[in-house]
Amino acid sequence: MLLTIRTTHQPATDLGYLLGKNPARAQSFELAFGAAHVFYPEAADDACTAALLLDVDPVGLVRGSGTLDQYVNDRPYAASSFLSVAISRVLRSAMAGSCRERPELAATPIPLVARIASVPVRGGEAFLRRLFEPLGYELAAERLPLDPARPEWGDSRYWSVTLTATRRLSELLTHLYVLVPVLDNAKHYWVGDDEVEKLLRHGSGWLPEHPERDLIARRYLKHRHSLVRDAIARLVTAEEPADEEEKADARDAEEQAEEQKTSLNEQRLQAVVEALKTSGAARVLDLGCGEGNLLRRLIREPRFTEVVGVDVAHRTLEIAADKLKLERMHESRRARIRLLHGSLVYRDRRLEGFDAAAVVEVVEHLDPPRLAAFERAVFAGARPATVVLTTPNAEYNVRWPSLPAGRFRHRDHRFEWTRAELAGWANAVAARHGYAVAFHPVGPVDDEVGSPTQMAVFTRGGGPAG
Ligand code: SAH
Repeated sequence: MLLTIRTTHQPATDLGYLLGKNPARAQSFELAFGAAHVFYPEAADDACTAALLLDVDPVGLVRGSGTLDQYVNDRPYAASSFLSVAISRVLRSAMAGSCRERPELAATPIPLVARIASVPVRGGEAFLRRLFEPLGYELAAERLPLDPARPEWGDSRYWSVTLTATRRLSELLTHLYVLVPVLDNAKHYWVGDDEVEKLLRHGSGWLPEHPERDLIARRYLKHRHSLVRDAIARLVTAEEPADEEEKADARDAEEQAEEQKTSLNEQRLQAVVEALKTSGAARVLDLGCGEGNLLRRLIREPRFTEVVGVDVAHRTLEIAADKLKLERMHESRRARIRLLHGSLVYRDRRLEGFDAAAVVEVVEHLDPPRLAAFERAVFAGARPATVVLTTPNAEYNVRWPSLPAGRFRHRDHRFEWTRAELAGWANAVAARHGYAVAFHPVGPVDDEVGSPTQMAVFTRGGGPAG
């Protein structure tokens, strides 16, 4: 992760005073997530360039959070909130506009060129322009290929961005501090809750007039809504590419539309809540919680003292946080609910020690070869006393007039099981991990093909492995 700032203001080496970093020597700083290095690739009277290089330690970053997939993420390579945190730590006084040796220069607009070597951008060049041009920057952006050696692989979502303007250095740094994390609309690693407040404070003076103010604010507030408070320092998993997420959103909307017609969704959630209540569980997981439809019902029941939603799609969790109105939730309720970003095909310590887990309409989204990993993560790893799992009953599909023969109910479904197929899988899982399993229909029961949804309730201790 590399940011360079160049000036041709003369004497250009005064940039060293403005940054409070001597051009003659390289300096390194230890930050919570790795090291930051400041050095000057050029330092002459007519032009001077300062470089801020971040060396993010992806292992240290997620230390203690317990899932393997967290080691595989793009944070180390992309500018993001780390860059903001580094600017605020390493270039603090420059960002504040204070400079003991050249105070008048700090208050003077000077020609500046900032270049971020690689930053993930959701929304492309048009979005970059909407963010930076209203602030008076001339912008040049180049989309980076996925792999320069393999042009046939196409473009990545990373951009190299160059901003040119005559501004005070403090303004440039503040704009980068606020806007770089907005670019990818992804999860961010903030050192503490107050980082959010800082962001808003740094926006004062320019953000209120920015034409994209609402969008910028929304992206921040979203991050604040969702995971910042809950999952701090455990930010995780390779993201779905943005386009995929958008498609997933559309698909989910489609699925919901289908389902609302029948209110099957409603019946299913009710059946799951009933099964969880019957189990006597107090601390419950909703694995693959999606937009939080089940969470909303669970949190209404005081008997559930801890309710934790887990999903692999970060965007979906943000929607869940919005829909649940976590921000405005009464404190006593808010304290009982958490959202975690994580994948169900990796073992995750955070999911251990719960009484029950719901897995509602999730398994059919997993590639069949990953079912074994899912089984290990849930039944050997998390190992709750009760697992309530629902999945479509493929046999029932012939009763859906709108569904062409042989088609799944949802484009993202990797399979749909008959009753015998679910029973085959669930009985084997139960036997391997010491659970007993019982099957229940959900929705109207047809004599021939059964119910549209099938539910399996696993109870630990009921099987041979005890
Ligand atoms: N249980 C919810 C959502 C069902 S849709 C409901 O009934 O409304 C399936 C959900 O599983 C999606 O939100 C998807 O992001 C999530 N999912 C798919 N694969 C996953 C994985 N490997 N780990 C965690 N969640 C996953």
